[in-house]
Parts: sequence; structure tokens; C-alpha cells
Amino acid sequence: MSIEFTAHTDRARFYSPMADFEEDTVEVELREDPLTGQQTRLVEDVFPHPDERPDISSFVDDDGDCFFCPEMVHDATPEYPDFVEVDRGTVGESVSFPNLFPYAKHANVVVLTEDHFVPNDEFSADLLADGLENALEYVHAVTDHEDPPYASINMNLLPSSGSSVVHPHLQTILDDHGTNAARRRVDAERAFADDHDSTYWEALLEEERDGPRHVGATGDVEWLAPFAPTHHYHVVGITDVTDRPAPNDDVVADLAAGLENVLSYYGSLGLNAHNFSIHLNEGDASPVVVDVVARSPFDDHYVSDAFFLQTLHDERVVDVAPEAYASEAAEFF
Ligand SMILES: [Zn+2]
Repeated sequence: MSIEFTAHTDRARFYSPMADFEEDTVEVELREDPLTGQQTRLVEDVFPHPDERPDISSFVDDDGDCFFCPEMVHDATPEYPDFVEVDRGTVGESVSFPNLFPYAKHANVVVLTEDHFVPNDEFSADLLADGLENALEYVHAVTDHEDPPYASINMNLLPSSGSSVVHPHLQTILDDHGTNAARRRVDAERAFADDHDSTYWEALLEEERDGPRHVGATGDVEWLAPFAPTHHYHVVGITDVTDRPAPNDDVVADLAAGLENVLSYYGSLGLNAHNFSIHLNEGDASPVVVDVVARSPFDDHYVSDAFFLQTLHDERVVDVAPEAYASEAAEFF
């Protein structure tokens, strides 16, 4: 077996006030990501599970002075440098422009919708595909100009995911340096491919296709719940495309279809916030892969799901095992 699934369970003991101070134990399962070796702690009941859909209408209905709404977006957002050859990019409803607050040498924003807010379970595949096509037009403009090896298309939705703007948007970043996670991933992908006859992702699919973590397929993209999730309800979409796809490539619609399904699943659980990243790194060992995770349900008094373990220990913590939610997510495929 070319993929190793390594896990260990510790038990924390105490006399519990919930059980008349009898001895109780709680399991802490530690799993290693088969690609990078990074550790995930699986501990039950550490993530808020809303009983019903949080009512956030007073927050999301207020579109006063939103720079991304249709009446402002063409006046209040920046224009691209000359090499991009358009001032702003347009595909369907989506509008793209440089990020005024860039995190990388090349960074843009794609406003996905004319609507000021869209909940997780109302993003259609067509709408997502238009936004991804728009983002990829920028990726190719930058790649033709400079060819930075690291690229990604990313999304935050609602403040509990880190989004400072309600209006749905993507963010693209490209540079020569990569993020910590991108460098770690690409190094591990190359090391795996050097030692095996396939990419890590091909080998992973071979291993997981008939197992309890398989979620489904949309066209040529296959979706899994990873053995060691990066974050809550992590679902990964795996393609066999090793170049940055053309904006009109079929894989774009396949990725968008799967994203619609995963976000609909989150919506069904009352999980209204998410992040995703589509990894577009260079090299035959690094096919296009998308990671999608749920974030703390946003409401008036939400609690961050990034506490000391994630922010200072670079540790991953989830509370539902992928074997438990993969079959639930599969119902949306
Ligand atoms: Zn808006």
C-alpha cells in the first residue's frame, strides 16, 4: 500500500461533574496526513453545531456603501496593471479587479454575484463556474507575464471565516514564494511522485475510491473526506489536470458543480461560513486540487474556531470523523 493511514488514540481521564463525579474518559484521536505528516486531533463536541439556521438577516441585508455591489463596483475598485490588458474582468455576473489589500505580488478579487449576499446553499454551479473562469483569466494573464510557480483561487464567506466583506467574492494569489502550506504540499507531492509510479493524488484515489471516505464525483473531479481533515467537514476535490486549466476547460464546470454540492451540504447543517482554496501549483506532481472547509457558524456571538492550537501550534482540530460525514455529504452528489 503506497498510502499510509496512521492514527493513535489517547484517553484523557477525570471525575466528571456530568456523571456524579464518577471516573470518565474522553478520547483524543491523533491522525497523520498521509501526504505531509501533519497531525489532526479528533475530539468530539468541540465545534458548535447549530440547532437551526442562524438568523443573520439584519447583518447581511445591510448593503449600505458596499464597494462590491453593482452600482459601486466599477467606480470604487482598482483597475489592473497594463499587462492584464483589461481594466477589470467580466464573466457572467462576476467582476474582477486587483486586490486593494494584496497578500501577494499578484492578487485579485472576483466579485461573484450582483446580489449583496448569497447563503452557502444558494451558490449555483453556473455562478461559481463564471467566477472561476474569471479568476483563471487573471491567472493566465499573470502566468503569461511572469509565470510564478505558486497560485491559488480562494474564498471566505462571512466574518467567522475571516471575510471582512459580506458580498461574495473570490481572491486569487500568485507569487514565486508560495504560502507555508503550498510549499509543504508541493515538496511532499514531488517527494511522493519521485518514489512512486503515480502522483500522491492518483494513489490516494486508488486507495479511497471504494472506502468510507469517498464522497462522489462531478465529471472528472472526485471528492473525498480526507483521513486527517485540515478543518471541520473538510472535503477535497481531486482532478487529473496538472496545468493551470484554460478558463473554459470542462474541469472548471466540474469543480463548480462539486463546490455547489459541498456548500449545499454545509447549508443543510446550518453551517453558513466556509473557506475554499483551489491549488494551481506548477509541476506534474501537483494536479489541481480544491480543499473546502466549514467555519464557525456566524451569528451575533459566534466563537472563533481558530484557538491557540491552530494559531500558535499549527495544529488541526476537528470533531466529526471523515468516515462519519462523507456519507452525509455524498447525499448531495
Ligand atoms: Zn454588496
